[in-house]
Amino acid sequence: MTAHPSATADVLVIGGGPGGSAAAALLAQRGHRVIVIERKVFPHADRSGALLTPRSLTALRQFELPQLEQFHRVRHVRITSEGRSTSTTWPNHPQYPQYAAVASRSAFNQQLIRAAVAEGATVLAGHDATDPIVERGFARGANVTAPDGTTFEARSEYTIVADGANSRFGRALGTFRRPTWPYALGHRATYLSPLHDASEIELVVDLRDRSGTPITGYGWMLPAGDGHVTVGVMMMSTSPSFQVVNPAHLLARVITDHGARWHLATEPVAPGSGGRVPLGMSVQPSAGPTYLLIGDAAGAANPLSGAGIEAALETGALAAGVVDEALQTGTSAALQQYSQLLSQHYESFYKVGRLTTRVLGQPTMSRRINRLAATRRPAADAFLRLATGELRPGRAGIAELAYRVGRTISIVAPDA
Ligand SMILES: Cc1cc2nc3c(=O)[nH]c(=O)nc-3n(C[C@H](O)[C@H](O)[C@H](O)COP(=O)(O)OP(=O)(O)OC[C@H]3O[C@@H](n4cnc5c(N)ncnc54)[C@H](O)[C@@H]3O)c2cc1C
Repeated sequence: MTAHPSATADVLVIGGGPGGSAAAALLAQRGHRVIVIERKVFPHADRSGALLTPRSLTALRQFELPQLEQFHRVRHVRITSEGRSTSTTWPNHPQYPQYAAVASRSAFNQQLIRAAVAEGATVLAGHDATDPIVERGFARGANVTAPDGTTFEARSEYTIVADGANSRFGRALGTFRRPTWPYALGHRATYLSPLHDASEIELVVDLRDRSGTPITGYGWMLPAGDGHVTVGVMMMSTSPSFQVVNPAHLLARVITDHGARWHLATEPVAPGSGGRVPLGMSVQPSAGPTYLLIGDAAGAANPLSGAGIEAALETGALAAGVVDEALQTGTSAALQQYSQLLSQHYESFYKVGRLTTRVLGQPTMSRRINRLAATRRPAADAFLRLATGELRPGRAGIAELAYRVGRTISIVAPDA
């Protein structure tokens, strides 16, 4: 294997999803030489809609995304359970907008990767980072396979691992997911629908297995404003029947039960797709002497909702800050702060989230909470505020009070 002449950088980013693109854009903006290795080619044909939560939209403001304002805005959320539903608005919060957006995955990913290129990052699309180059215990880059099958070494001082939920690259560096912590399985399909420009998303919270036992998780309908509505399910591993429920079958049931309301076309525009989402910072260690993990590779998705784009963007920005400091100071000591930074940003909320996901695994409890959220507006508001992590410091609303109770319990709960 030989060194590709142009494949030497200050920072190598493995994976050009939301997390990797964000970190690459910020590091290139600060004048560092950045190479992103991305297996897919752009534009990729993923028409499915992704929900960009108010926190994601806030994180995205730091990038030049010409279409950000054009992503389809959704101002309301309908929560449905057992044939009843309540509509509410997104929570109001001093830092985040009171709306979310739905964007097609491909348009969104492409915008972000373009932002990284515009800042000066080199993106090697269609390239596979097969394994890390490790010298005397330090990660020094990656062995890469180009689209024509040739292989070369991409070398760098620091590596940001952003290769998503399976994170083969991270595992080759010795990272692992805590096996007892919750994770999620998601599945989605996208349909043509005349309701594609609705300004409301729907969350179906009474998922059940074939025997009628509640499943911890939810279904969703996301209107993307481009002719399509994406329907999906997210199922938490704490569900009693998690091992025997196929998420594709669960999605089919949600579509049978709720699809008519959304006037979905008979067939999806492409076969359904899905995967695993590690939750709540469940991947350890998140940093080594010369590398950092971000986004799904770090298991960073919200443990209550499985939404991971905001955490990918935020951890990408945190990692970029730490690597920038290391490059400026000429010492890798700054990387040691990363795990602590993640703890400061997420640990308290994520610990409560992990605990709540376990509690919701008890059918009577989840049934009660879901029924309340679908029938009482204040409960729906609190449910949404908690699930999206939009708690207001110093306020004493239902969500903040429930969170404080959860936090107190989580302090004494072993391995929460
Ligand atoms: C069905 C489903 C629906 C979801 N919907 C939402 C949603 O609406 N909103 C939300 O916030 N979250 C959602 N999530 C979670 C969200 O998709 C992830 O949390 C988010 O994409 C994580 O971003 P990332 O950049 O860390 O990883 P990814 O988006 O997975 O990006 C990783 C990138 O790395 C590339 N890659 C991997 N290995 C290599 C390699 N060896 N070499 C080169 N490239 C490589 C991949 O091609 C990919 O582009 C959903 C998850 C699922 C399963």
